[in-house]
Amino acid sequence: MERSNVDITKLQIGFGGLKVLENLDLHVDASEFLVLLGPSGCGKSTLLNAIAGLIEVKGGQIRIGDRDVTWAEPKDRGIAMVFQSYALYPRMSVRKNLSFGLKVARTPQGEIDSRVGEAAKMLRLTELLDRRPSELSGGQRQRVAIGRALVRHAGVYLFDEPLSNLDAQLRAELRVEIKRLHARLGATMIYVTHDQIEALTLADRIAVMQGGVIQQLDTPKKIYREPANRFVASFVGSPA
Ligand code: ADP
Ligand code: MG
Repeated sequence: MERSNVDITKLQIGFGGLKVLENLDLHVDASEFLVLLGPSGCGKSTLLNAIAGLIEVKGGQIRIGDRDVTWAEPKDRGIAMVFQSYALYPRMSVRKNLSFGLKVARTPQGEIDSRVGEAAKMLRLTELLDRRPSELSGGQRQRVAIGRALVRHAGVYLFDEPLSNLDAQLRAELRVEIKRLHARLGATMIYVTHDQIEALTLADRIAVMQGGVIQQLDTPKKIYREPANRFVASFVGSPA
């Protein structure tokens, strides 16, 4: 599977008069698990949506792999995204939910079957392929949502608070699952959360954001032990 690095330089994004990101720089290595951590409203989703091509940028550049995708359509960016609210198709089976996007993209049926089978196996959904979303638990539904992204075989996976609608027990289980998936695929993952535990357990590196600015970008250990400023210390809950 393809593994892409992501390079963001001098990114500017605003909504009307509101400047959300100004001259933001971020480099994500191929195969890295990077977590964007910060309080609600700090610009995490804006940054992720910009990488996905879902909002227009006012300035700067976004590169994925060796391509400048700043103005590329979402489908041409080599990314797949998992959202917080996983809108599964209620009338379709799990199998159809997983294969629908590939069908639309006219992927050959044999290839669809093999990708769906592989994703189902990785996410332990094989026994559930003929069920409908209403017959699944919250955690199983979210695994289907992750599976829908997986079958796209993207170079970069983007997650926007995928676990925040689940209870603590399920969040803990799925954290393990996502971590395992990353180890197995070796794909680049950019994961947005406001949950410190999630960030500390999942990340190779954490970018702590506040007010549209990356306050510190470091390994979980460093962020926790050597916070760059008071905001990082208080937000991550470290002793300093
Ligand atoms: P986070 O994901 O960290 O909670 P967001 O990226 O959603 O934060 O939002 C950052 C800021 O941009 C907030 O002040 C939010 O109100 C504003 N914002 C986000 N999307 C829009 C939009 N489509 N129109 C206007 N303002 C927006
Ligand atoms: Mg958000």
